[in-house]
Amino acid sequence: MPNPLKTIYKRTRLFGGLAYHQITKTRAPVIAYLLVTNRCQMSCTYCFVDHVALPGEMSTERIITLVDELYEKGTRMICLMGGEPLLKPGIEKIVDHIVSKGIICDMTTNALLIKHKLAVVKKLDSIMISLDGDEEANDLNRGKGTWPKIVDGILIARENGITVRLNCVLTRKNMHSLEYMLQFAKDNGLFVTFALMAEPYQTPENLKEFTMSDEEIKETYTKLKKLRDEGWPVLFSDHTLDYVINYPLAYNEIIFKNASQKALDYYRKECRYGRTMAYIESDGKTYPCAALWNVDFFKPKSLQDKEGLQGAWDNMENLPCHTCFQPGCSEWNYLTTPEGVWHGISFTVSQFFSRNKRQSGETIQRIRKISPIQTSQAKKEELIQVRVS
Ligand code: SF4
Ligand code: SF4
Repeated sequence: MPNPLKTIYKRTRLFGGLAYHQITKTRAPVIAYLLVTNRCQMSCTYCFVDHVALPGEMSTERIITLVDELYEKGTRMICLMGGEPLLKPGIEKIVDHIVSKGIICDMTTNALLIKHKLAVVKKLDSIMISLDGDEEANDLNRGKGTWPKIVDGILIARENGITVRLNCVLTRKNMHSLEYMLQFAKDNGLFVTFALMAEPYQTPENLKEFTMSDEEIKETYTKLKKLRDEGWPVLFSDHTLDYVINYPLAYNEIIFKNASQKALDYYRKECRYGRTMAYIESDGKTYPCAALWNVDFFKPKSLQDKEGLQGAWDNMENLPCHTCFQPGCSEWNYLTTPEGVWHGISFTVSQFFSRNKRQSGETIQRIRKISPIQTSQAKKEELIQVRVS
């Protein structure tokens, strides 16, 4: 289990690095999102990766040397992603290597394998698990039968003192799940971020019925702000919620560097993705963020090419975008201001103190009660029995 003093030290280095590059207007991949495999046992409607291993998927050994290269370039936090990262053969060695270098090691997981991979999961600094609402809402987004498995994974992680935060991807199918998610999070001592789909700029045909209108996005984030002000565990700052609510363009439009002065004045600070952060695909292709996977104006380079990591990083130097509606554009800027640092510290401390919170039988009963779907009642009863006993 990560030591609290080490955690504070590592986070100070992380935020120091982010602030340094922001102030000096220099670039370095202080945070690297590393997709270790594209394989996944789930098939969420909005997922932007194919669920099979890419032909050029990096081996465990290559990822380990990449961690060294990233560290030399200033990386102080690595978020392991996929696909499902726990499906990557050798994930134990990758995590051990990241931890041995004093880099913060975070993982985004669908939670299905947590019970089988507890030894490695316990070494992580934190994990992020996506849950999209109650059983009906979650399963519309993420596939029938996934809700009890994800909830089981969350509860097991909590019982083992693992630092968890939740992420809910908002679509038209689950946008009414705010209260459910926040009650669930509160009962389990967790915080929740609420994201929008990662490919809004060129919405594929099959996602159109999932895409929220601009009015729906505005209303949902306004409600979220109200809930946050009432004390519910929304992880985004007020600064970021205001940023999303008042975004001056349509929600699928980026504010480019050549936009009107009025649009540029909306938010003077440049988005940090591609400037202090990099998304590295499992085959080595390197992107600024998950939203630029499939667009005409950005073509990624692979770090497996001749020019290596430096070439792939330099390829992102002159991005045409200034900022966009993604909450991360504002939140990462905010986290390097004095107020934002305080927000980050309070979050770290409250996460630490809630880490060992276990669910009481009463809480589990409440989780059950707020899921209105009765179809998999037997499975839920089984889950409740296991947790209560
Ligand atoms: S769990 Fe994650 S990687 Fe797997 S299909 Fe869903 S969004 Fe994609
Ligand atoms: S502004 Fe930032 S988050 Fe938005 S598309 Fe560009 S790099 Fe990605």
